[in-house]
Amino acid sequence: MTDRRHFIKTAAGLGASLSLFTNLKVRAQEGPAPRRPLILCSRGEEWAEKVLRPGWNVFEKGGDILDAVEESARVTELDPEDQSVGYGGLPNEEGVVQLDACFMDGRTHNCGSVAALEMIKTPSSVARLVMERTDHIHLVGEGARKFARAHGFKEENLLTDKSRKMWLRWKENLSDKDDWFPPKDGNYDLEKRPTGTINILALDSQGDLAGCTTTSGLFGKLPGRIGDSPIIGAGLYVDNEVGAAGATGRGEEILRTCGSFFVVEQMRAGKSPREACEALCHRIVKINGGPEKVNFTDKIVAINKNGEAGCFAIQGRKDKPPKAAVITAAGIQIVEGGYLIEVG
Ligand code: ASP
Repeated sequence: MTDRRHFIKTAAGLGASLSLFTNLKVRAQEGPAPRRPLILCSRGEEWAEKVLRPGWNVFEKGGDILDAVEESARVTELDPEDQSVGYGGLPNEEGVVQLDACFMDGRTHNCGSVAALEMIKTPSSVARLVMERTDHIHLVGEGARKFARAHGFKEENLLTDKSRKMWLRWKENLSDKDDWFPPKDGNYDLEKRPTGTINILALDSQGDLAGCTTTSGLFGKLPGRIGDSPIIGAGLYVDNEVGAAGATGRGEEILRTCGSFFVVEQMRAGKSPREACEALCHRIVKINGGPEKVNFTDKIVAINKNGEAGCFAIQGRKDKPPKAAVITAAGIQIVEGGYLIEVG
């Protein structure tokens, strides 16, 4: 098993470095030097410094790209104030926090993921271990938890009081035909069912790429529902020859378009990261029958091998465009994206 895995890794790594060589030659004639290393997170000002700095510190110490990605991904997972990722994430219909995450290494095309994982604060780290320490790619539910336990992860209650109260208000507000009375401390508006998730994409100084997506998924989801976030090609895709992409928002739409894979392939065909993300937004709107039929949003982020970054969303507001943030040797920059449908 080890030999086969080693072979896969070596073969993929060789392919990647050959094409890196070709790409670099082309770029040398084309213009500006690649901007690397670089880390992107799919959130703007509020989280940029907190999330990106720990990953950047790994690069500054000469560390590996996977460590950089993991350090950044763990920030929101461990923060109870963030209610869409990891500890303190928003629970499913039954009030249980079930987490999804995946990890991908562009150098080898290796990947790992966990879904519907309960009681473990950092699913990104478990997904990385699935990638590095097993011959599988996806582990779900109880199996994922047993695997995490085997690797020494502590099992803890992930439901903070803040998330529990939000869930309770939502539950009490769902129907006037059940036995739950309406919320005592104010309604929870289902129209604004929160989404979250974070994508981390990185390019190191050798031009290698990696990424991670982590989430507590759709608030109030059916127990066992798995979104796009832990699915390779949907919530995340990384290809060392081209770039990396990640998605947040309505996961079912990203799943049925193989969203992140689609975006990487658009970049392979010549689009910039922002144009590639926009192309996916158009595709999703089209298969839904046009803008007037769309009552959800997705946001896509991408980077290419030159260190260009972009993002685009289905819905947006003039005063609140979709954003991502990148860190490079020049510091942190906010990447402002476009959107297709203006919402109030
Ligand atoms: N994409 C995630 C999911 O569908 C949710 C989100 O991004 O907020 O599970």
